[in-house]
Amino acid sequence: MPSLSVQRLSVVVPVLNEEDAIGLFLEKVIPIIQDIDRLEYEIIFVDDGSTDRTSQVLHQVHAANPAVCMVRLSRNFGKEAALTAGLEAATGDAVIPMDVDLQDPPELIARFVQLWREGYDVVYGQRSDRASDTAAKSGSAGLFYSLFNRLSSLKIEPNVGDFRLMSRPALQATLRLRERNRFMKGIFAWVGFQSIGVPYTRPARAVGTSKFNYWKLWNFALDGLTSFSTVPLRVWTYVGGIVAVFSVSYTITIILQTLFFGRDVPGYASLMAVVLMLGAVQLISLGIIGEYLGRLYIESKQRPIYVVREQVGLRPQTESSSPVETLLAYSKAAR
Ligand code: UDP
Ligand code: MG
Repeated sequence: MPSLSVQRLSVVVPVLNEEDAIGLFLEKVIPIIQDIDRLEYEIIFVDDGSTDRTSQVLHQVHAANPAVCMVRLSRNFGKEAALTAGLEAATGDAVIPMDVDLQDPPELIARFVQLWREGYDVVYGQRSDRASDTAAKSGSAGLFYSLFNRLSSLKIEPNVGDFRLMSRPALQATLRLRERNRFMKGIFAWVGFQSIGVPYTRPARAVGTSKFNYWKLWNFALDGLTSFSTVPLRVWTYVGGIVAVFSVSYTITIILQTLFFGRDVPGYASLMAVVLMLGAVQLISLGIIGEYLGRLYIESKQRPIYVVREQVGLRPQTESSSPVETLLAYSKAAR
């Protein structure tokens, strides 16, 4: 987009109990954005139900710098919902979601903007190594990506998180996916657009501790897989088919054995093994149906993704940032 007019960048930062991290984050990020020419900015923090002084800190920061705004949610809705709240409040021509802990290197913002101005709609940060993670975390992440890409027709880039730049059209498309189960990596990939990756090394957290544990990550992985693939549901037909083929041939063997070699009562052990095995297979398949059914149930209630308690300093959404208008304008421009 080589125009000489000033463009507007929105940075969206979900925060949960991050009173210590906010100051550091702004000190680092604001000078970097100010260095980019023809760019004005807003930084939207989404307070995801913090119980510490996060919202007070944000009020103070806003009083000193009106470009910093806040959406405060009524409780903790989770990072994905918080991110959605921030993306919906953003008014920029481009938007960058970031973590507050400086694990998403702010230096990359300049490069993101440069590539966006060269015409890319999505510029995503791609972790070139996972040195700051434990072996267990990077191992399980690797396993997840390969499983996801095998099970889903949608391919997600490994080691790509929420840290990215999206142009207004890409953002509007993203916001049209209204599912409650918000697996952002998948949602971002689903919308497509001309994309490019920028490799980076992810540093350790600046202050505080991670808000995710293995149980949360496991559930996150389940959300991702069930949102973007129905293979786990369909696979049981095949498992059943294979078991049926085995049982028919085994039954025939038993009948022939009985006819030709007399009655031979099979042992307790083999019987027990078969009963337990089939019981387990049935429970697993039932559990997987339950996973999907539960999500269907939640989805069918059509509850809002988040509830806002307070808004500080947000700009009103402009006409052009209403989803349908922009998409129409964009597709007209493309023609
Ligand atoms: N976060 C949030 N709501 C949550 C959990 C996390 O808004 O329920 C925010 C958190 O404050 C941080 C970002 O999401 O800005 C990433 O969290 P964290 O650094 O704990 O995750 P990790 O880097 O370990 O994946
Ligand atoms: Mg982090």
